[in-house]
Amino acid sequence: MAENQSFENAPINWIPAFVLISTPLAALLIVPYYLLTHSVSWAVWAVFAFFMAWTGMSITVGYHRLWSHRTYQAHPIVKWFLLIGGTLAVQGSVFDWCAGHRLHHRHVDDIYEDPYSAKRGFLFSHMGWMLKNYPSGHYDYKNIPDLKADPVLVAQDKYYAVWILLANLGLPALAGWLIGDVVGTLLLAGLLRLVLTHHFTFFINSLCHMFGTRPYTDTNTARDNPILALFTWGEGYHNYHHYFQYDYRNGVKWWQYDPSKWFIYGLSKLGLTSDLKRVPDVTIQHAQTEMAFKRAERKVATFSGNLTTDMQMVKERFTSEQQAFKQTIAEWQALKTKAIEMKKNEFAQRMNEVDDKLKDQFASIEQKLRNHVQQLDQVLGQLKGKQI
Ligand SMILES: [Zn+2]
Ligand SMILES: [Zn+2]
Repeated sequence: MAENQSFENAPINWIPAFVLISTPLAALLIVPYYLLTHSVSWAVWAVFAFFMAWTGMSITVGYHRLWSHRTYQAHPIVKWFLLIGGTLAVQGSVFDWCAGHRLHHRHVDDIYEDPYSAKRGFLFSHMGWMLKNYPSGHYDYKNIPDLKADPVLVAQDKYYAVWILLANLGLPALAGWLIGDVVGTLLLAGLLRLVLTHHFTFFINSLCHMFGTRPYTDTNTARDNPILALFTWGEGYHNYHHYFQYDYRNGVKWWQYDPSKWFIYGLSKLGLTSDLKRVPDVTIQHAQTEMAFKRAERKVATFSGNLTTDMQMVKERFTSEQQAFKQTIAEWQALKTKAIEMKKNEFAQRMNEVDDKLKDQFASIEQKLRNHVQQLDQVLGQLKGKQI
């Protein structure tokens, strides 16, 4: 009850509220007017595009995948690049952003503990959570001991106001001076870029918890949404991310649009990032197969009363598929135990051989898991066009 009240009577967070309300208004009024009354060179648009990518990806590649989740290691040059870009985004210091984000993962959807719980509605999860001083927004920083040990991040947090002013006014002004249009660059690469990046990032907490599919887990509201991935530098694959947060990829399939993953991978080829963490394919396929069974089970559970022959057959085939799936899981468990044993007893120089052999065996389990999904599709396909 007390908790409830402190949520309802939360005081306004004046500085964030001023920034989050005044900047979109200013962009909406000034930018169209400026574009209609001035000619803007392609160089200004190029700087705008670069700043969009720099700021947006510094949040996804830096604040999110590097500092919040530690999904890879980065060279100091990369860290600085991402830290300055992240500062340009005006989304709080690394400390604030990551402390809140780790709480979001830990207590996802909890209306009191998740700082931007989607269960509190679109507006709250999009930006309402920053406008008022809610108890869920008070962080004790106990969940970021790794970040507190980094003196550069300490400095960013301590002098954050100076950092954001210098970055957001200084860098676009400098770029504008270099290309001969300070005002145009400040308006586009400064103001418009800031507002767009804000809302594209906020989409991840709001829309990515509302619209899309749940191929890996339905234990939380996070969704995979390829359209939102286009605006969020690949973070639209949010259902995968909430299930496997330690993977450096969000769009885990090779064809999924995730420029942040390509950037991290590309930098690893240059030796600038390392230790990229990946969830094994078989584990990913297992999550997908399990979800397919869950969905099918729900459908089968809707059958009631006098079942038609088709329904009866589907039910029986579903049960036998369930048994086969359990068998595959048992084989997988046995293989994992065998892998540990083999690695324990093998000489280091033959480890590659062992790994190759195991790789094939894990791949065959993965194939079996994939086949179960196909079988399920076929089974349920029998009901297509027939009354359920
Ligand atoms: Zn995350
Ligand atoms: Zn989320």
